[in-house]
Amino acid sequence: MNDPEITRRDQIAAGLAEVERRIAAACEAAGRARDEITLIAVTKTYPASDVGVLAALGVRDVGENRDQEAAAKVADCSGLPLRWHFVGQLQTNKARSVVGYADMVHSVDRARLATALDREALAAGRRLTCLVQVALDDDPARGGVPAAGLPALAAAIEEAEGLVLGGLMAVAPLGADPSRAFARLEELSRSLRERYPHATAVSAGMSGDLAEAIAHGATHVRVGTALLGRRKAFVR
Ligand SMILES: *Cc1c(COP(=O)(O)O)cnc(C)c1O
Repeated sequence: MNDPEITRRDQIAAGLAEVERRIAAACEAAGRARDEITLIAVTKTYPASDVGVLAALGVRDVGENRDQEAAAKVADCSGLPLRWHFVGQLQTNKARSVVGYADMVHSVDRARLATALDREALAAGRRLTCLVQVALDDDPARGGVPAAGLPALAAAIEEAEGLVLGGLMAVAPLGADPSRAFARLEELSRSLRERYPHATAVSAGMSGDLAEAIAHGATHVRVGTALLGRRKAFVR
């Protein structure tokens, strides 16, 4: 992509068209409607100018995984009609900052974090939608609460005045069949909804496995690389 005639806008537009084509094909194959799926553009490591391009192309949901970077980008993008999703591992001391801009936190993986987010949401006079991030394998690097801890964490979020239990999020294990992992997530979501019918969100699927996620009931896909290009090494 060294051709100066190819602008960044053209690159991103091409990435978005291809991602939309893949989402449409996956919906078609699964017998689902496109509007059941929210595409979240994960913009970590990319500049606010790229977020502006995405917004101009019609993207409305943006995801970030580090508070410091996200807070700066949100400030640079004020005025754009965007919803911000926090998708990364989160320290409790960042809860106040994240509550200041996030519409949805996908990565609630422990009760202490839920408590901190609740406190800050109440202080800010708002209710924050939280997803429980569940671990689909034993790799702590992928994050999430083990499935055995899901009921207690979901109950803690449901009971918190400042939080809304939105559903579940997961990252497929590295080097394993994503379909199996997402089938497991679908099952966990089904039993969660028996207890909490409103907790319908299933945040699953990234650039490499969005079709498998949609086949297994994903309502939110989180896509970075396929929209914006490969991130530099060593940056998640
Ligand atoms: C970076 C990231 C994504 C996007 O991954 P891609 O493979 O670049 O599409 C999705 N979810 C989370 C939690 C991430 O950190």
